Amino acid sequence: MGTRILILGAGFGGLELATTLSEALGEDVDVRLIDKNDAFIFGYAKLDVLFGRTKPQAVRLRYRDIAKPGVQFVQQTVTAIDPQARRVTTDGGEHEADFLIVALGADYDLDATPGIAGNEFYSVEGAERLREILPTFSQGRAIVGVCGAPFKCPPAPSEAALLLHDYLLERGVRDDCQISFVIPFEVPIPPSPETSRALIEAFAEREIEFVPKHRVSALDAARSVAVLDDGSELPYDLFLGVPKHRAPDVVLSSGMAEDGYVPVSSRTLETKFPGVYALGDVATVGVPKAGVFSERQARVVATALISKLQGGDEVDAYDGTGSCYIEFGAGRVGRVDVDFFSGPKPTGSFQEPSRELVAEKLLFGSSRRARWFSS
Ligand SMILES: Cc1cc2nc3c(=O)[nH]c(=O)nc-3n(C[C@H](O)[C@H](O)[C@H](O)COP(=O)(O)OP(=O)(O)OC[C@H]3O[C@@H](n4cnc5c(N)ncnc54)[C@H](O)[C@@H]3O)c2cc1C
Repeated sequence: MGTRILILGAGFGGLELATTLSEALGEDVDVRLIDKNDAFIFGYAKLDVLFGRTKPQAVRLRYRDIAKPGVQFVQQTVTAIDPQARRVTTDGGEHEADFLIVALGADYDLDATPGIAGNEFYSVEGAERLREILPTFSQGRAIVGVCGAPFKCPPAPSEAALLLHDYLLERGVRDDCQISFVIPFEVPIPPSPETSRALIEAFAEREIEFVPKHRVSALDAARSVAVLDDGSELPYDLFLGVPKHRAPDVVLSSGMAEDGYVPVSSRTLETKFPGVYALGDVATVGVPKAGVFSERQARVVATALISKLQGGDEVDAYDGTGSCYIEFGAGRVGRVDVDFFSGPKPTGSFQEPSRELVAEKLLFGSSRRARWFSS
């Protein structure tokens, strides 16, 4: 039997890790990739589902299509993790590993914000539900509101506000609706003043009210008001929310988490447990929670494991860089490139929204789909 590599979570990070290991090591290792779901969905596809730009079924990439040498996909729910023993319990049995990689992402803490259930678009079910409600909203106040940081994909709520504007415009009801956007940060994308400026200008052009430095702490459905963290209130008829995030329960009860997420070396993604790594949204790495970061971290872990198994040299450290595409509406996409580790503080550069970047974003998705899901 080859070295046993157990990957928990087949999201952005887990899929990239399994693919890179298979490419380099093939049948020489036993890679087991566990996920409770039967399909992967890109985070940004939830916006497409929400605004009716695609059908939920169309964005599901089924795990059964994975056919990689050395990789076995197992659809099971992880119920316990023993990082000391590198042993994992699932609803289907027990798995032991020589190397264990926790890539279980971030869950949503709906209990933390009264009223948020049914009013968030960050889960597939939430996006599907709000998709049914959107056509009934033709006048009144809409809020796109964030309930806590950190949250996945910092540009996503800004995108939701801009796409909501387009959606209402297309239906001919924009003049009868107001849009407010509540976010805990001072600016939409803190590491990139240029990107933030462009977004704030886009909000102003579209008469979207920007409410920075606030989070939504509760929704009072009876009075149709959103309560902000300073106790002030904003009335709403439609609420598109970003729920508070936290690590999955199974991670919190494993003893691996501190302050809500798994601490790791930000350069190697190693935890304090020998042979155990954590990467992506489930870990505290020092970068935002987004698929592009999880993917790049997965490559660093893959290279380290390949090097260990092949007796290779030292490997490059994780560099904390990433590029995110931002939907600006009107059929255009912008891009921000951020760098969290090279300087004394994070930096970012911005590419103006264009149709070319729409094509680049499409290629981003289709190339991952081909890489992770074809043999
Ligand atoms: C609206 C929206 C837009 C976004 N847009 C972008 C974007 O444009 N670009 C970008 O880079 N990122 C984007 N993101 C963020 C991105 O989706 C996540 O940051 C990314 O998926 C994180 O990757 P991960 O591998 O760390 O975790 P995930 O991709 O969340 O994967 C974790 C996996 O673990 C599984 N899992 C969890 N618990 C268990 C358990 N107990 N047992 C078994 N399996 C379990 C889950 O089913 C999941 O498949 C967006 C997110 C949202 C919500």
